[in-house]
This record gives sequence, structure tokens and C-alpha cells, in this order.
Amino acid sequence: MGLQITTLSENTAGLDDLLGERGLSILIETDEVNILFDTGRSISASHNADILGIDLRRIDKIVLSHGHSDHTGGLRQVLRRIGKKGIEIIAHPDIWAVKYSRREGEEDRYIGIPFHRQTLESLGAHFNLTTEPVRITDNIMTTGEIPMVTDYEKIEPRLVVKEGNRFKPDKLRDDQALIINTETGLVVILGCAHRGIINTLYHAQQITGVKTIYAVLGGCHLMDASEERIWLTIAALKELGVQRLGVCHCTGLPASAIMAQEFGDGFFFNNAGTSINL
Ligand SMILES: [Zn+2]
Ligand SMILES: [Zn+2]
Repeated sequence: MGLQITTLSENTAGLDDLLGERGLSILIETDEVNILFDTGRSISASHNADILGIDLRRIDKIVLSHGHSDHTGGLRQVLRRIGKKGIEIIAHPDIWAVKYSRREGEEDRYIGIPFHRQTLESLGAHFNLTTEPVRITDNIMTTGEIPMVTDYEKIEPRLVVKEGNRFKPDKLRDDQALIINTETGLVVILGCAHRGIINTLYHAQQITGVKTIYAVLGGCHLMDASEERIWLTIAALKELGVQRLGVCHCTGLPASAIMAQEFGDGFFFNNAGTSINL
């Protein structure tokens, strides 16, 4: 199976003329299907695709890792550029929860999908909303809802949902990843891994029945994590035998730096323009 994974949008850009924008969008191209995993925050995914010579009309399906605007804010622009009717968007129903960030001393910020569902449907979106894993091809599937089993992976308390006039903790049930089963093992692509990178990898093993995890790419959400959690995460990644680690987005500099040191040649920083062929 030919597999090309290209990061279209990330907080930082690694090549001339690309835009960096806080968010994430990764294109997965195979012989059978082309999947866009997340869409970045606004226009960077489509701008960078142009610069990289990637025709977005090639995209067959979109998978959303969760509802936060830094992953869904590019939907309108991307749908316009795909220009097809009935383009399937695979996601968890909770992407439509009214998501906020609430921090002491800061104004409450709406961080959910910045569009009405009807707007996106009028641009060709066909939402396939489910809590379950979705099998896209024999070798590619979404994780569906991820059970939280480790004791050190927690969701940040600043992430909440608004129901009526009340705020409740956002359990981020919509948080999911994409799994590609290759000859060398699983390749797991993370959005933000709000429910925990290690929880995500355990779940990927469970639902595929494949124990070998070859590569992990994307956001690990360790930017505010304690040093203890960072080291527990790294120990678990090593125990899982992960060989290539391409972190970015919400991983944070301290965790990224430690991972770079610990994984040596297996580490890469997965910013906009990074493309790997597996
Ligand atoms: Zn998020
Ligand atoms: Zn994010």
C-alpha cells in the first residue's frame, strides 16, 4: 500500500511560502482513498496545499478529530475547494457541543466549530456522526470514542461545554484519532489527543488487534502537562515500541524537547510542509 502523509497546516511552517497557523490539518493519500484529517483554523490548509501543488479536489473524505475550532475552522474553505456534493465528514456527534475555554482571569472564549451545520451542508458536507470506529478501507479506520484508562492522562479543566446558561466540564468524547495499518505496524494520527495519547494508542491496539505501533503523528496535548506526566507518557511510548514520533501542535516545547532527546533519529517535528512516505 502506498502511503503519503503530508501536514498541510500546523502552528509553524517548515518550508518557504507556507503559512503557520495554530491548528492542525493532515492529508493522508493512499492508492485507495485520500483523507483529510482535520482542516486547520482558517485558510492555511488550502493556501499551503496550493503552494505544495496538492489539488484538494483529490480528497474523498474528511475525518474530524474533535470539534475545536483550530481543527474545524478550515472546513468552509476546504469544502469550497473540494467542490463536490456529498463529501463524507466522519466525526463524533459531540463535535457540535458548545465548546468554551474558561480560565481564571481571562474572558470565556468560544472554541467550538465556527460554522452552522447547514452552511457546511450547503457546501457539500455530508456528516457521518458516530461514537463508534469507522472502517474507511481494509487498512484505515477511525478510533471512535477513546476510553480513558491511564491514571495520569486528564482533560484540562479549562475546557468546558455550555448547556443553557451553565458550564460543564467537556469530557471531549468527540476526541478521536485515525489508524492506518501498514506492513510495519500501526500509524496513528492524532488531532489533539485530549483524552490522552497513551489511551489513544491502547485503544488503537484493542480495536485493530495489532500490537505493533510503528509511528505516531500529530498533537499530543502535553503543553500544560506536569513533568511527571510527560515522563510517564514517554515511558509508555517506549514500552509500546513506537519507532517514529512526529509530534506537533499542542505537544508543547518542553515535552517535544524531551521526546526529541529520548527518541533520537525516530523523532521529527511534524510542522506544515512535512511529508512522509511509508
Ligand atoms: Zn482541541
Ligand atoms: Zn488543537
